[in-house]
Amino acid sequence: MSKVSMGELLRDASKRGYAVPCFNAINLDMVRGIIQAAEEARSPVILCHAEIHFKYTPLAQIAPIMVEAMNKAKVPVSILLDHGKSFSAVTQAMHMGFNAIMFDGSEYEYEENVRRTAEIVKIARTLDVSVEGELGYVTRPKSGGAEGDDDDSIIDDTTLYTDPDQAREFVERTGIDALAAAFGTVHGVYLKKPQLDLERLGEINRKAGVPIVMHGGSGLSDDDFQRSIDQGVAKINYYTGMALKVMDRARERFAQSEEKMFYHEFMMNVIGDLQEDAQGIMHTFRSSGKA
Ligand SMILES: [Zn+2]
Repeated sequence: MSKVSMGELLRDASKRGYAVPCFNAINLDMVRGIIQAAEEARSPVILCHAEIHFKYTPLAQIAPIMVEAMNKAKVPVSILLDHGKSFSAVTQAMHMGFNAIMFDGSEYEYEENVRRTAEIVKIARTLDVSVEGELGYVTRPKSGGAEGDDDDSIIDDTTLYTDPDQAREFVERTGIDALAAAFGTVHGVYLKKPQLDLERLGEINRKAGVPIVMHGGSGLSDDDFQRSIDQGVAKINYYTGMALKVMDRARERFAQSEEKMFYHEFMMNVIGDLQEDAQGIMHTFRSSGKA
């Protein structure tokens, strides 16, 4: 199985009513835990690295690890540059073997977003790389811990949501394979109970004509996820929930252990915790057993 194009992964998810989980993997332990989970659950999976995380792990160091993991996996895997904003990060990722790019032009005016996204798609096509674009704006509240720079007051601003008619035009003019849409989700930790506009999501899905991507998946209920998948979400990005859960488990382990602990023991425990969380997510997204 191993390397499969993201476009192909998402089309299968759309057809069979599940969402492919997309995990930010910022180090080797995360790559290992996630791949182990995917193989154990027989789930297709997307590993990603976000440009905002380059400060923790340089792309050049994690890329070969991800490529190796993708090529050796017993399940279909795609590797994606998450929230690529600079042209250099996008071209570098393609050069290093990423077979998918999320180009985030959501901070630009519509026409500029179209122009930049279409340009990336043109390059990606020649290299057999899938492209996800973003229309509308999924916020990053400051106190939500998502390294955001948005003022908390804009998280309820529905004018930032994706317009279904514009989504259709955006897909036609850019040629993207998948569309990240804004319909009430938020990056990082939710500051209050999320209100998803599922009616809008359904309309975006019908009009866009490509699989829809949900960002800001951490903190939604299983029911929120399932209903979003039913309305056309075929890829869900997930990081914050995992990053917090693994540290909660580490705290418990430290509290329980009275003896000295070696780093390698801690590392193997963390990989197991990551695997457990990822497998739970695969079950919720209904991707288990689909590989
Ligand atoms: Zn995102």
